[in-house]
Amino acid sequence: MKKPVLLVVDDDAQVLAAVRRDLRARYRESYTVVSAASGEEALATVRELKARGDALALIISDQRMPGIQGTEVLARSREVYPLARRVLLTAYSDIDAAIKAINEAHLDHYLSKPWDPPEERLFPVVDDLLDSWQAEYLPEATGLRLVGHQWSPQSHAIKDFLAGNLIPYRWLDIERNPDAPGLLDAAGVHADELPALIFEDGTVLRSPEPREVAARLGRPLSAAFEVYDLVIVGAGPAGLAAAVYGASEGLRTLLLDRHAPGGQAGSSSRIENYLGFPAGVSGSELTRRAVTQAQRLGAEFLVPIEATGLSIDAGYKRLALGDGREVVTRTLLAATGMAYREHPAPGMAEHAGAGVYYGSSSTEAPVLAGRRVVVVGGGNSAGQSAMYLSRYALDVQIVVRSGSLRDTMSQYLIDQIAKTPNVRLRVRTEVERVEGTGLVERVALRSMDDGTTQVEEIDAVFVFIGTRPRSDWLPAEVRRDAKGFVLTGRDLLADAAHARTWKEPREPLSLETSVPGVFAAGDIRAGAMNRVASAVGEGSMVVRFVHEYLGLT
Ligand SMILES: Cc1cc2nc3c(=O)[nH]c(=O)nc-3n(C[C@H](O)[C@H](O)[C@H](O)COP(=O)(O)OP(=O)(O)OC[C@H]3O[C@@H](n4cnc5c(N)ncnc54)[C@H](O)[C@@H]3O)c2cc1C
Repeated sequence: MKKPVLLVVDDDAQVLAAVRRDLRARYRESYTVVSAASGEEALATVRELKARGDALALIISDQRMPGIQGTEVLARSREVYPLARRVLLTAYSDIDAAIKAINEAHLDHYLSKPWDPPEERLFPVVDDLLDSWQAEYLPEATGLRLVGHQWSPQSHAIKDFLAGNLIPYRWLDIERNPDAPGLLDAAGVHADELPALIFEDGTVLRSPEPREVAARLGRPLSAAFEVYDLVIVGAGPAGLAAAVYGASEGLRTLLLDRHAPGGQAGSSSRIENYLGFPAGVSGSELTRRAVTQAQRLGAEFLVPIEATGLSIDAGYKRLALGDGREVVTRTLLAATGMAYREHPAPGMAEHAGAGVYYGSSSTEAPVLAGRRVVVVGGGNSAGQSAMYLSRYALDVQIVVRSGSLRDTMSQYLIDQIAKTPNVRLRVRTEVERVEGTGLVERVALRSMDDGTTQVEEIDAVFVFIGTRPRSDWLPAEVRRDAKGFVLTGRDLLADAAHARTWKEPREPLSLETSVPGVFAAGDIRAGAMNRVASAVGEGSMVVRFVHEYLGLT
């Protein structure tokens, strides 16, 4: 098999030779290092590589070159190789320009010259980028292939499960991909058995549930121990952080999630404000790192497993699971976050998964090339989604009931939207209904100023109109506020029932709920900050309180 390529671009022959030498010394075994002495030559090389069917894993380009500059080389090569990692090489005096380019050209990193010693300043960066590229890249014609109807909710559920769990796969739309019918024929799959998941060894799962897929991929679905020190329900940022700290501090730790790790953050195409990632980080990349870290430190992880109930038995917590089994633990962390509120307009519920999507655009975006989409909502998640969709769709309309985005969206996103020609903002407008036979074909949009309705041809609707806590699996003893968010710590003291129900000779610990030894962290908690960093902070802190509780019992 051909090795993937690392491309280095610099007009300074000495610098070019030095980067090439360093990269070859370390990556020669697994990658081919190719160089270009100008922006023009680099773009010609990129086209040649594509024509030969080579994989481009990384491109490192100098910024200042006569003719085409580094940022343009990186931006244009992205059109040909969207997954290739992009690094800008800058002189110290150009760092401001590099930081600006991170936003505009969506760079993954910048390196300032000189990078000596490479073991400290070059290789760690390149190792990291190549790891994340490997996690997403799937060589042609091998690996897992999913064949189905583009707009089928079952296809969507399997794609969502595979993508959410960072399992690389190739999607083949039966109506559009010329290879799909032949593949189905060879695998002996009939049209009424779709979606079909075809494995590298030729075996097939017909219309599978996510659980069957997980089992077939060898993912554990049963807990290894009878009793845990800490069971964490929900593998969003809060749960993942608790798993890292719990396992690293010697607690027997089990983490489970009903869908996939990452939670809401996992569906974000780019988190710009998480500490330590100057170029931003995609939710899936942050999740991949966190899951690897938690598992390396010894946390057990089960997915897809849903928590359906909780009972307390002489201090032990019995967690009921969706498949009828239960897990016993000494302490429990509820980190089940929030879910998107459903849109009440007629037609939304019928088209869920078939043109109407909640919370994430990353799975569906690539197939919306040349199509028209509507994003409903004015928050950051709607803005990020619109920006991500704009890379593929012909036309993206953001529909909001308010008069502007100023009070609901971060300024950096408002600025990006204003600069993106295929994203339009439609203020004081609401979705009246969604129409279509099987899939979304039209959307009726009503002006809140004059009450007139316009029916437009639209192929997909992405809904971000607020959230509700996922706390309904918890028993009534776990006290919540009027909206269903879980009360913790000192907030419980103000709850009318607290004095009656709390029987411990101490106040609840911080992040402890009204049931001793049951904790809550992240967006499920009343008063949460709704940020990745705060969820991670709470998930990390909770482990200290778990130790304290275990020391008391
Ligand atoms: C599109 C988008 C973009 C965002 N961008 C940013 C950003 O740029 N910066 C920022 O700081 N914040 C951002 N946020 C907010 C941030 O993602 C959340 O605040 C954070 O994810 C909350 O983490 P959490 O762990 O509390 O819960 P969640 O992320 O909601 O995770 C909860 C997990 O629990 C699982 N679960 C739910 N119920 C059950 C059950 N019964 N059994 C088992 N598992 C269950 C879910 O599957 C989920 O994986 C964004 C949110 C979205 C949706």
